[in-house]
Amino acid sequence: MIFLRSGLYLLLATLCLPVFAGENGDWNGKRAAVVLTYDDSLNIHLDKVLPALDQREMKGTFYLTVNPTAFSSRMLEWREAAKNGHELGNHTLFHPCDGKKPNREWVSPDYDLSTYSVKRMVEEITLTNRILESVDGLEERTYAYTCGDTEAGQASFIKHIEPLFVGARGVANSMSKMGEVNLYNINAFFIFNHTAAQMIAEAERAYQEGALLVYLFHGVGGEHNLNIAEKEHTALLDYLKKNEDKYWITTMVEAARYAKKKQEN
Ligand SMILES: [Zn+2]
Repeated sequence: MIFLRSGLYLLLATLCLPVFAGENGDWNGKRAAVVLTYDDSLNIHLDKVLPALDQREMKGTFYLTVNPTAFSSRMLEWREAAKNGHELGNHTLFHPCDGKKPNREWVSPDYDLSTYSVKRMVEEITLTNRILESVDGLEERTYAYTCGDTEAGQASFIKHIEPLFVGARGVANSMSKMGEVNLYNINAFFIFNHTAAQMIAEAERAYQEGALLVYLFHGVGGEHNLNIAEKEHTALLDYLKKNEDKYWITTMVEAARYAKKKQEN
């Protein structure tokens, strides 16, 4: 009888517990999703980041530009990364950006998106897909807009690349709840000299909001002007690993595929 009564109380207590919106998880059973993305084909991604992720059995998305030697001379290592479950994302052949935008003096006239045609951009992106497919054998991946640019010669190419990708990452510094993910311009949290505490605060906000949080890294301990200290990156990975029950830590292609399916329903 005592057992029965306490069981009943337990049942009532459980039924009366406040339900945190999305507690049962919009994101593959977890409240929030976290995607770690690394841009621009850097040696340091192969030398430091991939071992750090593999050690923790975490997956990342590497947005590869094909032209740099850190891609072209290390393809077998990228193939190995893909075999280990990391995504090889498309970040174009030559990393063209719109040279007419402010602070873009560094853009080479040869690879200035303001003088590209949409056709040329789409052809270069398509060829990059073929090259990446020859490395990882996969037909599905995501794209990352170079410099966040979505236009070639002042015309948007977003619609033209939609059939080529599951999704595309943009640079709008925000996170997205399920139902609000703009699949062909997915928000991302741009990392530049951040501390682990700042990055963890964003992850905790994503958890509160039940959102998808995408981190956008370039240099990790060097090799790029947009850099973050290696120890801060390591501390973020440790935090995420320790809180795996809270976050679905996955690749951009997996998160986009999942959001696409859920948002269609
Ligand atoms: Zn880039």
